[in-house]
Amino acid sequence: MSTYPDLHLYINGEWRKTADDLPVLNPATEEEIGRLPHAQISDLDDALEAAEKGFKTWRKVAPIERANILLKAAALMRERQDEIANAITAEHGKPFDQARREVIRGCEFFEWDAGEATRTYGRVIPSAPGVRYIVHLQPIGIVAGFSPWNFPMSQPCRKVAGAIAAGCSIILKAAEETPAGALHIARALHDAGLPPGVLNLVFGTPSEISEHLIKHELVRLVAFTGSTSVGRHLTILAAQHMTQVLMELGGHAPVIVCEDTDVQAAAISGAVRKMRNAGQVCTSPTRFFVHESIFDQYTETFVRRAAETLVGNGMSSDVEMGPLANERRVDALTALVENARDVGAEIKTGGRKTGDKGYFFEPTVLANVPDSARVMQEEPFGPLAIINPVANLEEAIERANSVPYGLAAYGFTNRADYVDRMVEGIEAGNVSINTLEASLPETPFGGVKSSGYGREGGIEGLHNYMVTKNVSHSLQID
Ligand code: NAD
Repeated sequence: MSTYPDLHLYINGEWRKTADDLPVLNPATEEEIGRLPHAQISDLDDALEAAEKGFKTWRKVAPIERANILLKAAALMRERQDEIANAITAEHGKPFDQARREVIRGCEFFEWDAGEATRTYGRVIPSAPGVRYIVHLQPIGIVAGFSPWNFPMSQPCRKVAGAIAAGCSIILKAAEETPAGALHIARALHDAGLPPGVLNLVFGTPSEISEHLIKHELVRLVAFTGSTSVGRHLTILAAQHMTQVLMELGGHAPVIVCEDTDVQAAAISGAVRKMRNAGQVCTSPTRFFVHESIFDQYTETFVRRAAETLVGNGMSSDVEMGPLANERRVDALTALVENARDVGAEIKTGGRKTGDKGYFFEPTVLANVPDSARVMQEEPFGPLAIINPVANLEEAIERANSVPYGLAAYGFTNRADYVDRMVEGIEAGNVSINTLEASLPETPFGGVKSSGYGREGGIEGLHNYMVTKNVSHSLQID
């Protein structure tokens, strides 16, 4: 039974269709599963007007009440998790169980930010008698949020929860290819009693929407997750209006595997995690730098486990990896594999599109990939791993840092001195040791270098959505 929702825009607390709609496809079958209304400029103007009104109301709502609405919405999404996960699998392709875990992760982002809403403390600065210096944190204003297609639920949850917890209003443009997650977020917040205009959800032509929203004087923050090239473009647009940005961009995560580690366990963990979400994750482990003394054993185990990955329609219960989310990724991966082969990389397994219907791609492992291969610099954003040998930790760290990205990085070792050298030496916003988890509600997540600015999650997350105001109060006129 299909539970794919009837798609709408959500503006000023009301659901809206438009004259212009485009199909949403199931990437496993290429069949149309819904039609998505696209916003016209007049819809965006309505959203801006509603967000202005929403901000005026919402900024005055007590933090505990904001928190209660977020918690109520999270509880509703937990209740609806199967229905939401079904829709995500249909539009994105990921296995149902992964979709359900994503829904839960989205709820956790709501729950974390609900708690943080009540803890946005300012401070009192010690001063001379007769004067007080008080620092307040206040909501920044209207947020223009842009969320991508790889996590249709958890990515928009982060932006919506941050804005709402801080007392902002938000106009969210979620991904046109995967609109159902964002629609369910809006539905839950609507049902939880969020006042009209605090959240507005639009879809349409991305460049038209971003141009129109970012140039508007009332928009005070652009919060984007997506590719570095689009993030750079939006940052330049925002700079023209002195508008703040939160940019969660691409990654090309290195994994350093030291000679002292449990080789079998590390290889299996790497292969399983690499194929999660069909590798379409900005923190996906991709460049594996393995000590030469364990390289053969590690590669053999990794390749065997990767090749065993059960690929298919995410609705089948035993499937481990679904299709890629769209045809562009199939073309991009095919070109990267061909280029790597041409410059001398070994294709250990996979490397091709598979199946007659749908955007399926084989789990792919390349070994001994020369630095001249494009994939050593370009984020593959797909089920593709690179395994190369290194002579020592110094070489591994140098190679880990040899890309423009700096989002997530991983290390496998039991030696404290190796951990210390990795933590000190790797250029990344997140370093994880003996685990391939990089992003949790309670930990700050974000990049350095071309991977972006700002942090989502942790106690840092809400700071993007707030401004610092200092108040100097003299008890007498001086
Ligand atoms: P893309 O660069 O065309 O689009 C990336 C995202 O940005 C999409 O959600 C798209 O709707 C949005 N977008 C594009 N142009 C925009 C504009 N002018 N204004 C506002 N939003 C705009 O690429 P794609 O083919 O959709 O995805 C490919 C690449 O995107 C991947 O290789 C990966 O690097 C990156 N990506 C990163 C993440 C992430 O979590 N950091 C998520 C999805 C995609």
